[in-house]
Amino acid sequence: MATRRPFVGGNWKMNTTAREADALARAVTAPAADDIDIAVFPPFVYLDRVSAALRQAGSPTIVGAQDLDHRDNGALTGQVSAAMLTDLGCTAALTGHSERRHILGDSDDLVGLKTARALGSGLICLLCIGETLEQREAGDTDAVNERQLRAGLAHAKPASLDALVVAYEPVWAIGTGRTASPEDAQNAHAAIRGVLADLTDNRTAQATRILYGGSVKPSNAAELFAQPDIDGGLIGGASLDPEAFAAICQAATHTTSTTSSAR
Ligand code: PEP
Repeated sequence: MATRRPFVGGNWKMNTTAREADALARAVTAPAADDIDIAVFPPFVYLDRVSAALRQAGSPTIVGAQDLDHRDNGALTGQVSAAMLTDLGCTAALTGHSERRHILGDSDDLVGLKTARALGSGLICLLCIGETLEQREAGDTDAVNERQLRAGLAHAKPASLDALVVAYEPVWAIGTGRTASPEDAQNAHAAIRGVLADLTDNRTAQATRILYGGSVKPSNAAELFAQPDIDGGLIGGASLDPEAFAAICQAATHTTSTTSSAR
């Protein structure tokens, strides 16, 4: 039997000042991370100080970037490469977050290029997928997830997929206070795992962590994380509140999923 270690990530988005970032970083050094992976995704400009603060505290908390460019270097004003991120002590990155897709214009193909670059650079890559309300109401949830997952992994090398984490984040649930029911989320996660098995193999699909994101709070985290195919969460708003984030991490700690195939 293989186990999927729970994973909880806090996406700070374009929030915090330098001082607030320091305080949040100090706060996330606290939770015991023995049987869970905890990650924070601060704004680019605070990655250096957050990663230094966590290193100094001896914290196992993973520091990740909210985005990256898929190219090596060059005349690309404002962009940040994978090598720059690893230089700063980053070991993870988000790709395909709904705000990047729907507000900042990242296409399915660009998300695939960024995902391949993150994984190929040795970063843990949280590939975010999820349907809009319109797509959900049209009954297209699984089809959208499948399309985004296939495009997101189209350029990735099979050998790099050990560092893949998928985050299912229905767009209508992000930052809205609305959450998918545990049953609906479980159904979406099971379908995503099925697509992963088709794209890779059963062993990889069973070992890959699939996180739920969308208005996760201390009050709904345990029920969501208790679902067999939900392996933790990607948290936006509540990750800016250290007590709420710690409670969500705690809810994930005792939900290690066992899978039937060894990895
Ligand atoms: C997110 O930004 O990934 C997210 C899930 O946000 P929130 O928890 O605020 O809905």
